[in-house]
Amino acid sequence: MITKVYQKDLKSWKREFPLMASLLELKPVSWFNPAIAPLATALDDIVLGAADVADASARLQRFAPFLAQAFPEVAASNGIIESQLLAVPEFAQALRERYDVSQPVKLLLKKDSHLPISGSVKARGGIYEVLFHAEQLALRHGLLDIADDYRKLAEPECQALFASHKIAVGSTGNLGLSIGIASARLGFATTVHMSADARQWKKDKLRAHGVSVIEYAGDYGQAVEQGRAEAQADPACHFIDDENSTTLFLGYAVAGERLKAQFEQRGITVDAAHPLFVYLPCGVGGGPGGIAFGLKLAFGDHVHCIFAEPTQSPCMLMGVYTGLHDELAVQDFGISNQTAADGLAVGRPSGFVGRSMQRMLDGYYTLGDDEMFALLYLMQSTEGIALEPSALAGAPGFARVLQEQQGYRQRMGLSAQVMDNATHLIWATGGGMVPPAEMDKYLASGRSLVVGD
Ligand SMILES: *Cc1c(COP(=O)(O)O)cnc(C)c1O
Repeated sequence: MITKVYQKDLKSWKREFPLMASLLELKPVSWFNPAIAPLATALDDIVLGAADVADASARLQRFAPFLAQAFPEVAASNGIIESQLLAVPEFAQALRERYDVSQPVKLLLKKDSHLPISGSVKARGGIYEVLFHAEQLALRHGLLDIADDYRKLAEPECQALFASHKIAVGSTGNLGLSIGIASARLGFATTVHMSADARQWKKDKLRAHGVSVIEYAGDYGQAVEQGRAEAQADPACHFIDDENSTTLFLGYAVAGERLKAQFEQRGITVDAAHPLFVYLPCGVGGGPGGIAFGLKLAFGDHVHCIFAEPTQSPCMLMGVYTGLHDELAVQDFGISNQTAADGLAVGRPSGFVGRSMQRMLDGYYTLGDDEMFALLYLMQSTEGIALEPSALAGAPGFARVLQEQQGYRQRMGLSAQVMDNATHLIWATGGGMVPPAEMDKYLASGRSLVVGD
């Protein structure tokens, strides 16, 4: 029985922060950020800017010829790792019925679930940080100039350099998968520290790629801590720090300009009269935080970014809502951090993301695991798209916005007419690599929740 958390009893927490009662009872909640500010002001909170994202984008361009050669999965896209954007009208119809939304909605899906190389959003940040590190090493050893053709990195001299260096990461699964596959293919000695909840097939896949997988009995936080400590003892080892890495964050942020180009290609307008709402599943926060940052730089105040978390792991919502950020872990409040949503089972949020993005994000909401499974089944049965549970977390977002009664839409000048012209985008973050037998289990769980059995 929990009596006091951070010197305050639970009663006081609930009095001071009214949403706390529902959060602690694991009820789905929505919270619209009262501190949201115009981008020009909100940018004061973050040390990064447009030039940093442009630098990351240019780096990915430099690597493209090498990636096209080293990874057959991206040969067709000339070494650019990018996902499809598509309309999901049948799924939108099913969601409107499920959530009792009467007005039509324009609903798009961003399929990072099917990003090449690692089948999740982690193919953005994770692979980018591996490339960044490889470039730094090769430059420092005089083996590369940024004007060179980066296919040089496949030559024996560079390969020998990489083989004498190590990369390590702590992960619940997808980050390890992404960094492990990329870093092993580049030639680094790679170690992934995995939490107890990581899926067996992810460990197997990594081992098949020659990655050393170390398993921990505890959760993600413990795997990261151990991995960091081991890596610090070895100067040849680079530890990828999911909680605080600005490099990862910038890799994700490049998604903003990519999405903007896809919108332009399709002739979709985003302006004050046609706002864009983007719903992003959040774990530690680096992925959705970086993407939201990139989107803000690309679309300005006309894009509204909202984070989605499992009811069992609402770390970012609670961190921002209470102002405790990474001082807080949901477990301290008796919330389990046990969820089937891989990548979202994080109890302590990134303090960097929570603080840097605190006036840029419009809101946060939670949903239960059962809801994610039901949505997973609905997505498959309406659109034929197979996603992992976390990737569905963004699906209820438009209903949460349209049905909120916290005065958010009014405060933001989002009239009914403006909302009718809005585009809603679900960021689907994973699923492309889930083995068919696992996916069948997911679908069966979802089906029994939707149609009964
Ligand atoms: C990692 C991950 C996320 C969230 O990214 P964070 O950087 O941890 O917030 C969302 N969905 C999936 C499938 C993921 O693997």
